[in-house]
Amino acid sequence: MHILVTGGAGYIGSHTCIALIEAGHTVVVVDDFSNSHPEALKRVETICETSVPLYQGDVGSRALLEQIFSEHNIDGVIHFAGSKAVGESVEKPMLYYRNNVTASQVLIETMQHAGVHTLVFSSSATVYGDPHSVPIAEDFPVGATNPYGRSKLVVEQIMQDQAVANSAFNAIILRYFNPVGAHASGKIGEDPNGIPNNLMPFIAQVAVGKRSELSIFGGDYPTKDGTGVRDYIHVCDLAEGHAKALETLHGKPGAHIFNLGTGAGVSVLDMVKAYARVSQRPIPYQIVARRPGDVAQCYASPDHAKTVLGWQAVRSLDDMVASSWRWQSSNPHGYREA
Ligand code: NAD
Ligand code: UDP
Repeated sequence: MHILVTGGAGYIGSHTCIALIEAGHTVVVVDDFSNSHPEALKRVETICETSVPLYQGDVGSRALLEQIFSEHNIDGVIHFAGSKAVGESVEKPMLYYRNNVTASQVLIETMQHAGVHTLVFSSSATVYGDPHSVPIAEDFPVGATNPYGRSKLVVEQIMQDQAVANSAFNAIILRYFNPVGAHASGKIGEDPNGIPNNLMPFIAQVAVGKRSELSIFGGDYPTKDGTGVRDYIHVCDLAEGHAKALETLHGKPGAHIFNLGTGAGVSVLDMVKAYARVSQRPIPYQIVARRPGDVAQCYASPDHAKTVLGWQAVRSLDDMVASSWRWQSSNPHGYREA
């Protein structure tokens, strides 16, 4: 298939381009580099030994999308482009509704006009809010607690409405748990701007000596060791899940929702210990107050994806940590030094 990947230079998008190319598909990328670096795509091209056509610009631009659909015979779109920082979404909700919701609406309208019917959307486990129990299945109640999460829920709803109205439309909604790790080559990985919000890139920067210690947000949760529990999934497993979803569901209209997680709960302290062991670097930490809005535990039931897509995560926690460390230690300043 010929796939348009929006946000293809970003963390998950760049890994997914590789998974798609390795699975025999061709890709076209649109990205405005608002949260990524052109070097990421150059490295994708090096790893895959192929060129990746790039359109630099805003995915919310109808004219740009029309140009892409007229210049390429696109079979489906994977839509990663968007803004993803929860705290920023509280401060700048209009930015989040424009970049995540309005741009997605323009994309769906342009797809319809171009006769492209398959859309894979990056949703998030954040749409489950504080789950009443774990593991979380796709039919659990949804409800977001911040503008970022609400923007994801609104796009999910828009896609489901479109699938009702347009009997050809194929809405594939993937709710990611916690993507971590990097490509096995160590050439591409997560490269956050400024101080990382997320656990894994923060630990990686402590291990490489860029930050002195990790603050662990809360040691008194009702979990096995008091720290928060999440479902960390290797970004390459996640990327392969996208290829599987496209291959299995292309040409099957309707709305399809899947959790993409491992089904295993890992605590913050589990992750710190694994990183210290694999990197053979000390990870100094201090337990501080809980972070507002955090839930105690969040992990997926991965059964639906396994049954319908024939996909499950295969990489271990050590694979996640070792690949993160390979990327971080060989690119201590991310793509910026390239
Ligand atoms: P990322 O920021 O690394 O990638 C997003 C890419 O989209 C970047 O390359 C950015 O430059 C680009 N972009 C942003 N706005 C754009 C616009 N208007 N036009 C064109 N390009 C634009 O983020 P990521 O971690 O790869 O996440 C990808 C998607 O997955 C996002 O939609 C995010 O909300 C979702 N998601 C991420 C996580 C996570 O933990 N990383 C978890 C759940 C869901
Ligand atoms: N966390 C932490 N210190 C940090 C960043 C995160 O203790 O500097 C914890 C956080 O409280 C949560 C887990 O690590 O329990 C995963 O947080 P992350 O922000 O990576 O993902 P999310 O909150 O989206 O699940």
